[in-house]
Order: sequence, then C-alpha cells, then structure tokens
Amino acid sequence: MIPYGRQHIDDSDIKAVVDVLQSDFLTQGPVVPRFEAAVASYCQARFAVAVNSATSALHLACLALGLGPGDRLWTSAISFVASANCGRYCGADVDFVDVDPATGNLSLAALSDKLQQAAKHGTLPKILVAVHLAGQSLNMQKLAAICSQYNVKIIEDASHAIGAKDGEQAVGHCSYSDVCVFSFHPVKPITSGEGGMALTNSPALYQQMQQLRSHGITREADKMPFGSDGDWYYAMTELGFNFRMTDLSAALGLSQLNKLPDFMARRQALAKIYDDALPSPWQPLYIAQPSHCSYHLYVIQQPGLALAEKARLFKALREQGIGVNLHYVPIPNQPYYQNLGQQPAAYPGAQRYYRESLTLPLFVDMSGDQQQQVLEALARL
Ligand SMILES: *Cc1c(COP(=O)(O)O)cnc(C)c1O
Repeated sequence: MIPYGRQHIDDSDIKAVVDVLQSDFLTQGPVVPRFEAAVASYCQARFAVAVNSATSALHLACLALGLGPGDRLWTSAISFVASANCGRYCGADVDFVDVDPATGNLSLAALSDKLQQAAKHGTLPKILVAVHLAGQSLNMQKLAAICSQYNVKIIEDASHAIGAKDGEQAVGHCSYSDVCVFSFHPVKPITSGEGGMALTNSPALYQQMQQLRSHGITREADKMPFGSDGDWYYAMTELGFNFRMTDLSAALGLSQLNKLPDFMARRQALAKIYDDALPSPWQPLYIAQPSHCSYHLYVIQQPGLALAEKARLFKALREQGIGVNLHYVPIPNQPYYQNLGQQPAAYPGAQRYYRESLTLPLFVDMSGDQQQQVLEALARL
C-alpha cells in the first residue's frame, strides 16, 4: 500500500536521538529548550512551549486563555476532532463555523455572519480555533480584524502548517493570534514521534502554559504565594498536567527542523506534478499560493460527487494499493457532537467538502513511480 503520509528519517535523525540516549537526560534536559528556541526563531515568535502532542498544546492554550464552563469555543467544521475537543476538556461549549468547500478552510463570511448573530443573542465565543487545512494558511490579518470586533481570542491550529507562510511571514509568527499550535505526529510536516508545540508572543500566556505543562508547579520564588521554605521548595499553585516532551523527541524534532525547507520543496514539487496530471473530472483543492502551502495533505475534489459513489471509488483505490484517505469527516457529524445538539445540515459547505474530497498519498520519499501508480489508478477509474 502506498501510504497517504509517511515520515522521512535519515542517519542524522538517528544519531541525534542516540546522542540523547547516551547523555545524562532522557527528559527535562537541554534539548527541549533548544528545540523550542529553534522553532520560535524559525517562526519569528517570541516564546514556544514544547509538549507531548498538539492535542495537549491546544488544551494548554485554552486553559491559559481562561476557557471554562459557561464559555464557548468555535472552530472549523472541517478539521481533526482535537481542534474542538480542547474546548470540551475545559468544560466549555463547542460550536462550529462552516467552510469554503473549495479550500476546506473556514469561511470568513460565515464567521462574520455567525459572530453578528451571536452578538445579538449574547452567545459570542471566547476563543476561535482557526485551522490551516492541508497547510494553506488562513489570511490571519483579515481573520484577526473580524475577531477583534467581538473580542474573540484566536488559537491557530497549525498542525498541518509548520513551514507554510501567511503572506510573507512564517505560520507561527503569532502577530494575529494569541497562540499557534504545531503537531509533530509522524504524518505531519516534521516529526518528533508524538509531540506538539504552542507558540505565543505573550509573556503571560507563555508562563501559564509552561507551568500547566508540568503539574502547575513553579520553582521561581517570586511566583510562590506563601514564599519559599528553602532552596528545595517548589510550589503547586494550580492544577496542571504532565504534558512534557522528552529530550528524545526534541532531538528528533530539532534534527527534522533542519530539513523542513527541503521537505517543503519536495512536497510542493510532488503537488505540482499531481496538479498538472490529475485526470478529469478530478481537480485539486484550491490553493491560492502553492509556494506558501506546506502540502501536509494533497486533497482532490470531484464536483457533484455523492458519498456512496466516493465510497466505491475509495474502496477500488485501496484495493489497488493506493492508500487514499479522507480529511475529514465534519466534526459536527460525529456522534459525540450530534449528541450535544449539533446538526450536520447546518454546515452545507462542510457537507459538500466531505462528499467531494479525497486525500491522495503525498510524502517526502514518494517516488516518481509511486506517484504515476496513483495517477494511473485514478485514470482507470
Ligand atoms: C494531527 C492534528 C491534531 C492533533 O495532533 P496530535 O499531535 O496528534 O495531538 C490536531 N489538529 C489537527 C488539525 C491535526 O491534523
């Protein structure tokens, strides 16, 4: 089976991890801060907090922004469930914004309308989780202009988009968001095994996320409400978690980060080949600026495709060894969210995107031969 995504691991990655195995610290050593500094510098953000997954990073970001019961969190109807679940972990209500079916990204028009309605009914969200689907950044300046009218905080779920650009800035710069989150799961643009990171330009959010990552404990005397008993003392001031990243993971992530520009170039080159050779009636997802997209996913669409017909095509492609996939089932369609009152029909853009889209295999080590196999299988159908 040609997989839809796969990590690229070379000797320098292996050496980086082995070096940590032979060092004094497997975790809480010097490599995690080095990885954080390198990602922050790459993205031109002030601060970065490495954690054990993007899911944990989203959860920390919500807590740091003060999300709790009685609050609302909105996210895109087309994303991985983690973009929404972070709100539920905090006891908040979750609602969704419909997408533009041509890009799968949340529609700024739908967002404006929904915010206007919510302002009338007193149901404005505290946080919007903005997702850069497939590695195509939203226009963050425009998004922030809309959200700031209603005092809505922004978390970017950039799990697909490290290496991508928003205008001329690297995704993760956080100029127009409170926090930006990356995932380093093996199918994502770079990997640390499991892993994630939260970037921010706010010293207060940084400090809060750092403390919540590790049990809510501080060792800084000026942050201890009852003072210090001595140099051994540590104070737990709030209920935190163990969301820490290991130095083993950070070493892999740091080594991968060096290769990110090469990874991007390879993904963009493969995407271009697909774009030029897709057999009709398939067409690529609309990507406004291919040179700015990280192409975490290569999504194709067929106008008017019905779900049952797609299921047939999907099965036939899998039977021919083509590891097609689907990103994503709209989150409001999930039984968990329907049980909370969500109605899939309220998101026609997301339903259309869901019916018409399919993810083709795309990964750094994909060979020309493999790509031709995918294209030929599509053409045969
Ligand atoms: C992969 C992914 C996540 C979760 O990332 P983990 O690191 O596996 O927790 C969250 N949001 C989106 C959009 C993703 O694709």
